[in-house]
Amino acid sequence: MNILFASPEVVPFAKTGGLADVAGSLPVALKQLGHDVRVITPKYKVTDGKTFHLTPVVESLDVPISNRMETCSILEGTLGDAVPVYFIKNDNYYHRDHLYGDSQGDYPDNAERFIYFSRSILEACKAVNFAPDILHCNDWQTGLAPVYLRKIYQNEPVFARTASVYTVHNLGYQGLFWHYDMHLTGLGWDLFTPNGLEYYGKINLMKGGLLWADLISTVSQKYSEEIQTKEYGHGLEGVLQFRSADLYGIINGVDYSLWNPETDPHIVQNYSVDDLSGKLACKRDLLKEFGLPVNDSWPVLAMISRLDDQKGFDLVAEIVDTLMNMRQNLYFLILGTGHERYHKLFSHIAEKYPKKFGVRLEFNAKLAHKIEAGADMFLMPSRYEPCGLNQIYSLRYGTVPIVRATGGLNDTIKTFQPNANKGAGLGTGIKFNAYKAENLLSAIKNGLKAYKEKKSWEALMIRGMQEDFSWSASAKEYEKLYKKAYEKVH
Ligand code: ADP
Repeated sequence: MNILFASPEVVPFAKTGGLADVAGSLPVALKQLGHDVRVITPKYKVTDGKTFHLTPVVESLDVPISNRMETCSILEGTLGDAVPVYFIKNDNYYHRDHLYGDSQGDYPDNAERFIYFSRSILEACKAVNFAPDILHCNDWQTGLAPVYLRKIYQNEPVFARTASVYTVHNLGYQGLFWHYDMHLTGLGWDLFTPNGLEYYGKINLMKGGLLWADLISTVSQKYSEEIQTKEYGHGLEGVLQFRSADLYGIINGVDYSLWNPETDPHIVQNYSVDDLSGKLACKRDLLKEFGLPVNDSWPVLAMISRLDDQKGFDLVAEIVDTLMNMRQNLYFLILGTGHERYHKLFSHIAEKYPKKFGVRLEFNAKLAHKIEAGADMFLMPSRYEPCGLNQIYSLRYGTVPIVRATGGLNDTIKTFQPNANKGAGLGTGIKFNAYKAENLLSAIKNGLKAYKEKKSWEALMIRGMQEDFSWSASAKEYEKLYKKAYEKVH
């Protein structure tokens, strides 16, 4: 199949979250299954700082926005060995210090920036003469592309065979803008209805993808069920229920060529299931990195995350003092950026407990690897989690995940049962259900207790390290989804 994968961020070119990891690895796995896969993404300023070889393929392309044209060019780079990546270069829109906004908040013209990107996806296919069987769009930034396909480009020869698939990576970000931005879309006001792009008086770009794509999916089975409920639907549960028969859940894979303690170049000593000794060196190195005194016997708990309520930091805030004052000593490390109130809170906690608590308020990929390797337990007490990647990385690094049983966290972590299997134990991590600080605290206490039983703890680590979430299985699921979408429109 000819597949065009459209994403607002792609590793290694630009990343703010998990979608970038997916966009950087799923297309490569699909290529390995024999498909002609290409990726399309905006060309941001961050990409310049890196040494990528990008060549111009279309010098000048006029793309409609509102009632005028804006010109972009298309550059081509590659992902993996051989997946072409088309970059939409319009410096006015994308050549900025960040992808979506800065400390002042979202960029005020995000509607225009990503309506333009969605439209340019279709225009680019024409310009490079690529006829996709599947147009696979991701998240709100590409939400209008399936709408354009059906409403404007339906009869273009390059789209004669095209079916669209739309994947939600996080329903919490829908691309909501004031109604007057409707003129930017170039679509008629007749689409601004409750059965169309309208959402409580605003325009909702994600709703476009959810309503007009031939099939829709999200990144875990559990999340695909959760988002059809009021609790997790962010107001779109009705739309998702309406499309229930076309909604699938496919768990993300991860790229073990980047996330593997046996080969990871960022960590001080490599290790494997057969020889775990390097993990202690990584732990010592990590504590030094955070400027903490090194005590081998204290467990290290860690988090790497956007500092956002979604990720359960309100629960962490409630229990952090209790953790720091428990009889059992431990380290708690946080790497992340996000809400100012969490920056302040965790900086304050770090001053209060300078020997036990470490925080780094930055986006630091290398440090993320060091944390995965050096920590003993990884916390993800998310309020909701479409898939989550760090718990999967943690498994591979023998860093036991402590997670709330929601979305992909539920689907990727098997509940630890220390006494099952004739005492050898079962499971890969510790899970809790209700979103309450006391439940998180008792899950952590269970972890600390289990950590003392060295043999059973090591068996738990090893079971996690042996789990396999490589893309090969999930890429085949996408292949099936594409076939269904294709059959639906033919
Ligand atoms: P989300 O996409 O909701 O932010 P995921 O768990 O799916 O959450 O993916 C987050 C990705 O971003 C992971 O690869 C994680 O390691 C990375 N990440 C998040 N914050 C940071 C940070 N401050 N420094 C380095 N990597 C980070």
